[in-house]
Amino acid sequence: MNVRRTLPQRGLPTIGAWCFLDSFGPDRTAMSVLPHPHIGLQTVTWPLAGHIRHRDSVGSNVVVRPGELNIMTAGHGVSHSEFALLPPAGQTLPVQRGLQLWVALPDTERHRPPAFEQHRELPQVSGSGFTATVMVGELAGVTSPATMYSPIVGADVSCGGDAILPLNADFEHGILVLDGGLAVDGRELPPGPLGYLGTGRTELKVQALPETRFLLIGGEPFDEELLMWWNFVGRTHDEVEQARSDWEAQDGLPETETAAARYGLVPGHGPGARSEAGRIPAPPLPGVRLTPRKRL
Ligand code: MN
Repeated sequence: MNVRRTLPQRGLPTIGAWCFLDSFGPDRTAMSVLPHPHIGLQTVTWPLAGHIRHRDSVGSNVVVRPGELNIMTAGHGVSHSEFALLPPAGQTLPVQRGLQLWVALPDTERHRPPAFEQHRELPQVSGSGFTATVMVGELAGVTSPATMYSPIVGADVSCGGDAILPLNADFEHGILVLDGGLAVDGRELPPGPLGYLGTGRTELKVQALPETRFLLIGGEPFDEELLMWWNFVGRTHDEVEQARSDWEAQDGLPETETAAARYGLVPGHGPGARSEAGRIPAPPLPGVRLTPRKRL
């Protein structure tokens, strides 16, 4: 699968509490991600084309489609799997495309129990030259129902020509062009790279090509140093090492013990000879102590 990571970047570990942004596709590769663990974050899944089946250790088993949002709060520990919904035998897989984001949980919230939400209808907002789906947080006075734990915004914006979006000046923001292209402050931004906008903007003025679509992310600058390794967002080497060994300790456990363990059991992926039996093992830790990512 063609995956492009635009956050974290060297010198830019976060935008607000957003700490990870991957774009995948467009291509006809079927997503096939076996159960794996997370701690300390929320995953935000936003399909642009194709349908994904999400299963997790909270007991969720849902399909998410374009326009729908999955939010999984890992807290102290969760595990999940994600698989493209396959067409009937003999038919070609439709084009697959989407965004996977992580939001770091603040220290006061990061040990909470895991949870999952799916939002099949999200609020729309329109303004000067744009329309937007508010995925998380608030934009132009419209608030998403998604449960988040820090001041944040995430929106899927469509525009063409001149557009002006109101912004929260206390937030830093970033934009990722999905289709079309635009210019901000005279600087052109094509699809692909993440544009960082900093803080202090009360509005975002863009000049956009027709039918431009972009992701807007932002939030209050996240002042806690994060230690990100593999699928874990922590604060110290020792807790990440513990998170890793807790996942490895679940390998091969009987189903009842797996269900009671830190990362639980993902329904449909129990031990045994099933086609989807299995899990993603943790990679080895590097031979040095992990350190937080620094903002430049
Ligand atoms: Mn995941």
